Amino acid sequence: MIIGKPFLTSEQIQKRVRELARKISEDYEGKEILAVGILKGAFMFFADIVKQIQVPLDIDFLVASSYIKTETTGKVKIHADLREDIKGKHLLLFEDIVDTGLTLKYIKDTLLSRQPASLKICAFLDKKAHRQVDLEPDYTGYKIPDEFVVGYGLDYDNKYRNLPYIAVFKEDSSH
Ligand code: 5GP
Repeated sequence: MIIGKPFLTSEQIQKRVRELARKISEDYEGKEILAVGILKGAFMFFADIVKQIQVPLDIDFLVASSYIKTETTGKVKIHADLREDIKGKHLLLFEDIVDTGLTLKYIKDTLLSRQPASLKICAFLDKKAHRQVDLEPDYTGYKIPDEFVVGYGLDYDNKYRNLPYIAVFKEDSSH
């Protein structure tokens, strides 16, 4: 497996993060957000964007997984749940990437049953090609083609999450 050259550079990422934060700050003016980072993948995006959001917010985390290496298992597991009571709160979920949509659909339905005042989704990347459920993020960083990407929080086998840019991950055909 090899990593291609940056698909989204650190500068492109940071510019888009600022734009998303500005839009979110406008939309939530006068409200307080409970910002939820979905781990592990969203940790970098989440840390970057919450610094730029201009309305009061609380943060919480939820640890979920459905992928083994580059394939979805289709079964979503919540390894660690929120610690905050979300009833009556304006929940904004931050996710690294939406692919089939199964992970976020499961998380969204689970959290909606706890009666937040509102629930919106901000996904840094959106890969529409494999979507299996009706799920549209309210805020999207970039729409990307059907490629497996790593970096900026996204892993392959738990590695490469620390890259400050996003790159396409490919089979190395030279071996
Ligand atoms: P979904 O349930 O929408 O199919 O997948 C969501 C999760 O799958 C993401 O949070 C992420 O962990 C993983 N995933 C989906 N596509 C990719 C990708 O291109 N690269 C990496 N590293 N993870 C992905």
